[in-house]
Amino acid sequence: MRSSLTTVFFLFITAISYSQPAENIIIITTDGFRWQEVFKGMDSMIANDAKYNEGDSSYIYKEYWSNDINERRKRLLPFIWNTIAVKGQIFGNRTLGCKVDNANPYWFSYPGYNEIFTGYPDTAINSNSYPPNPNVNVLEYLNGQPAFKGKVAAFGAWDAFDRILNEQRSGIPVISAFDSLGGKSATANEKLINKLARESYKPFHEEECLDVFTHNAALEWLKVRKPKILYIAYGETDEWAHAGHYRSYLDAAHQVDAWIKEIWEWVQSDPQYRNKTSLFVTVDHGRGDIKKNEWTSHNNKVSDSHQIWFAVMGPSTPAGGECARSIQLYQEQYAQTFARLLGYQFKADHPIANEIKEVIKR
Ligand SMILES: [Zn+2]
Repeated sequence: MRSSLTTVFFLFITAISYSQPAENIIIITTDGFRWQEVFKGMDSMIANDAKYNEGDSSYIYKEYWSNDINERRKRLLPFIWNTIAVKGQIFGNRTLGCKVDNANPYWFSYPGYNEIFTGYPDTAINSNSYPPNPNVNVLEYLNGQPAFKGKVAAFGAWDAFDRILNEQRSGIPVISAFDSLGGKSATANEKLINKLARESYKPFHEEECLDVFTHNAALEWLKVRKPKILYIAYGETDEWAHAGHYRSYLDAAHQVDAWIKEIWEWVQSDPQYRNKTSLFVTVDHGRGDIKKNEWTSHNNKVSDSHQIWFAVMGPSTPAGGECARSIQLYQEQYAQTFARLLGYQFKADHPIANEIKEVIKR
């Protein structure tokens, strides 16, 4: 009697705790894109600097400038500000006290992506050339659940994702850099994407393709193979920033915003996904400040490059808008948040930080 009452009580609590889990999730990262541009729009100091504006500050101003800070950030990232920040939530505006940070002490890519997907800022992972990740990630964990088996896929412009997500062990398809898509069952679109990628300009050599190929490959996979869990990792924001190309950095972010809109519009047009899909957008690390001439770079010698941001919306997230209160969140909390948005609890043999409760409906 007592135990069945306890069970009933427990089920009741579980049911009210996470009332509307999403059935699908799409996770998107755009490498090293700063919270400063997300919340304040283009930076006029960088745009005015001949070292950084690629000889065309008038283009940057024409495309992205407004005297009004809210208008300015909307010009750069219209979908994030007009849709995600309205229907969901966005965190990381430090000028309002809302802080999101790397928990790992390194502030570059592999440690950041490891932290995002394992919930564990493993200090052993201290190099971008680190071997296949020994830590189990949340995509792999969910792929082991019957509801998601074979319904998980990851796309990354950078070839390191094969190691970061441990493609061999995890059993998740990780389509990275110039990987060929579709094999013998490639669709006509996939064949074309494969051909265009092979023949394209390769500014980042064989290590990383232009984002346009990763995006269109992921979108085709979404439409044709209908994954429940999809990860897309764009890379150009980081590459153009390292190169000091501020115009291209802004254009890359603006294009990512447009691609997120394209994905979302398709999601909302398809019955498997409509109103059943969470969308989570974030970055692996931040970058430095222009005042120290360090905006192009990031690592633990570049101050502020641990400062990050994220945005999320979907059926299991309350519409809370822009976080405007004093709060401290960490990247290590994302992995459990992804699982919780789907109504699951991520478990592994390493520590996992708690979810971000604010973005999960009760
Ligand atoms: Zn970088």
